[in-house]
Amino acid sequence: MDSRARNRTTAERDVDSVLHPYTNLIRHQEVGPLVITHGKGVKVFDEAGRDYFEGLAGLWCTSLGWGEERLVEAAAAQMRKLPFYHLFSHKTHDPAVELCERLLAMAPVPMSKVFLAGSGSEANDTALKLIRYRAHALGQPNKIKVIARDKAYHGVTVATAALTGLPNNHRSFGLPVDEVIRAACPHHYRFARPDESEEAYSSRLATELEAQILKEGPDTVAAFFAEPVMGAGGVIVPPAGYFPKIQAVLDKYDVLLVADEVICGFGRTGKMFGTETFGIRPDMMTLAKGLSSGYAPISALMVNQRVYGPVAEESGRIGVFGHGYTYGGHPVSAAVAVETLKIYAERDILAQVNAVAPVLQDGLAAFRGHPLVGETRGVGLIGAVELVADKASKAPFDAALGIGARVVAKAQAHGVILRAMGDTVAFAPPLIISAEEIRDLLRRFGQALDEAH
Ligand code: PLP
Repeated sequence: MDSRARNRTTAERDVDSVLHPYTNLIRHQEVGPLVITHGKGVKVFDEAGRDYFEGLAGLWCTSLGWGEERLVEAAAAQMRKLPFYHLFSHKTHDPAVELCERLLAMAPVPMSKVFLAGSGSEANDTALKLIRYRAHALGQPNKIKVIARDKAYHGVTVATAALTGLPNNHRSFGLPVDEVIRAACPHHYRFARPDESEEAYSSRLATELEAQILKEGPDTVAAFFAEPVMGAGGVIVPPAGYFPKIQAVLDKYDVLLVADEVICGFGRTGKMFGTETFGIRPDMMTLAKGLSSGYAPISALMVNQRVYGPVAEESGRIGVFGHGYTYGGHPVSAAVAVETLKIYAERDILAQVNAVAPVLQDGLAAFRGHPLVGETRGVGLIGAVELVADKASKAPFDAALGIGARVVAKAQAHGVILRAMGDTVAFAPPLIISAEEIRDLLRRFGQALDEAH
C-alpha cells in the first residue's frame, strides 16, 4: 500500500477501484459501501464498530455463523498439507473423495457420482452441459430443451442467467433467454385464482406444464430445473401438492428433474434437503452455499445413474469428458466442506433449525396485521414479508417508491442486514441463531416497518 492509499478510507478506495455485483454502479459512486470488517456468531461488524444481525446469513450461505474456529483450522491444515491439486486426468486427493462420499451417503435419493465446482452457477451450468451431453449419448440430440420457472434463480453465467427468470438478470445482457421454456411461478398468494385451493392451483400448474411440454414436443424437452423454495425470486414456498404433481408430468414425458438446492440444501428448510421437505425425486441436485457454510467457495452437482451412465459411455467413445474447472474440488474448499458436514451432524443442525423455526415463522406471521404487509411466508429458517400498497387488492407499490429497499435501509439503521427482492424482504439467518436472537432481529425489523410506513 502506498502512502496515498494509507490516507484514504477503505470506502473511498472501494469507490475508485471495485466494480460491484448486484449494485447500481452510478449510485454507488454517491453513497459508497458499508465496510464490513469482521463477524461473530450471527452478527457482523462495520469499521465504526457497529454490529448487525446478518438476517440473510450473508448471501444465504453462512449457516454456522461467523468465527467457527473448526472451519478455520480445517482450511489452515489443508493449506499447509496440499493447498492445490486438481481432479483432471485421473488425479485425486483425499478431501475431494471424502466430500463426494459424504454427499452420496447423505443424498435423499440414490445418486451415483458427484462433480465438484466453485459456485452455484458453475454447478447449474454443468448440469445444463450434462443434459446436452447425455442427449447426444442417447442418440437424441434434439432432446435438449430445458424448462425453468418465472422468478427462478439458477445463476449468472450466460446459460444459467438465461435459466434464471428475473428481468434484471436478463435486461441488456442479450442472453439466449428464448431457448428456455418458461413455466409458471408457483406463488399461490399472487397467481392463484380467487378461491382456488393450493391443491387445485398445483393441479392447474401441472396441467399447464403438460400442455407446454406437448406444445414443444416431448422428444425435444430434456429437463426441468427447480429450487425447492425459490429464493432470490422472493422466497416462494410451493403450494400443497405442487412437486408430486409436477413430477408425475415430468416422469410421463421422460423429462429429468434438476433440484437446485443451492439455498435449500443442508437444513435450511428443516430437513437436510428441500427435496425431502417437498417430496421431490431429483435426477440431479446442485449444492453450494451451506455446503461450506460460505467459508470457502465450493459447489457440487450430484447425478443419478440415469444421467451418469450415458455420460460415462459418451466420454469413453469420445476419449474424454471435456469439462472441468481448475478450482473444481479445490482441496482447501473440500476440506472446509467436509468439516462443515461433520459439524452439522455432530451438533444436530436439523434439531436446532426445527427448534427455532417456529419462532421465525410465527414472528413473521405476526406482521400480517401491519398496514404494509400483504403476505408472510416461509419454512424452516427461510422466510419473507411481501409489502403491498393495498392489502385487499394485493396491489403492489409503485416501483419508483422502492419500498422494499426503504425498509431494508431502515432495518440496517436498526442493526439488521436484510435483502429486498422488489417489495419482498427475505430472511435466512445463520442456522445457529437462537430464539432470543430471532426475537431481537424481528423486533428491530418491526421498527423499520413502522418507520417506512
Ligand atoms: N441457485 C440458487 C438457488 C441460488 O440462490 C444461487 C445464488 O444465490 C445460485 C444458484 C448461484 O450461485 P452462485 O452465486 O454461487 O453462482
